[in-house]
Amino acid sequence: MQNISFSILIPVVIFLGICAAAFFNRLIRRMPFDISLRIKETCPHCKKPVLILFQIPFLGILFTRFRYACCGSKMSKKSLLVDFSTLLTVILAFVLWYVFYSEGMPLSLETLFPFLVLLWLMTSLVPIFVIDFRYHLLPDSISIGGIVVGIILSFLPGGITPWQSILGAILAGGGLYLFAKLIAKIIGSEAMGFGDVKLLAGYGAMMGAALAAEILILASVIGVCIVFPTRLIFAKAFKTENETSPGEFPFGPFLAISAPIIFIYGSKILGLYLGMFEV
Ligand SMILES: [Zn+2]
Repeated sequence: MQNISFSILIPVVIFLGICAAAFFNRLIRRMPFDISLRIKETCPHCKKPVLILFQIPFLGILFTRFRYACCGSKMSKKSLLVDFSTLLTVILAFVLWYVFYSEGMPLSLETLFPFLVLLWLMTSLVPIFVIDFRYHLLPDSISIGGIVVGIILSFLPGGITPWQSILGAILAGGGLYLFAKLIAKIIGSEAMGFGDVKLLAGYGAMMGAALAAEILILASVIGVCIVFPTRLIFAKAFKTENETSPGEFPFGPFLAISAPIIFIYGSKILGLYLGMFEV
């Protein structure tokens, strides 16, 4: 692979962000209601199909000024928020890669693995946060998608091997599944949804079982420190719109926010921890 200079890489990153935003908007609007992603976008008021041109993130809004071209009814402004946050996460992924992995050099085969992993981890924050906090669900395209992406990326140099990737997915997913069953036995109700299990399996496939365990620990610490006190104060804000869904507690966002932190610092933390036993 030839090195890819920043003048090419930056527009590519922005283009990827726009594509991801278009996908996430569709996912957020449909997945919680079991509507297929393949069905064409229609106006919620007059049911006429919406032109592809008007569905392009940012530009669509610019052309339509928050009104459907078909009947002039108002569009939700939430999609613009998803567009902006997705673009922001993509840019952040690029910045993190630049600071921690690039050493100021253009993208090469050696640094492609961390680049793609960070891109995946950072952009998936948006749908995980929106869908899990609002509906207590995690989309399969992100959780199972993560397992598939992890195994594919393990064929690149610089990361874990394909075997470690498969083993990481099994150990991380299986471990959390058993842990969730144990907690459920102790407290007498389901504490975690199966979505969290698949999500952590994906992180196991990307970084291996040891780092996935670190993600679980960090997510639990953040969860306990932030959620429980906030929950006591703002009990209403945590009410879900989908009361029948599994998983009393939206754990996905905490796993998702811990993943890029552990991807960058996890090996160092593990080294420090193991070093404590070498006296
Ligand atoms: Zn319409």
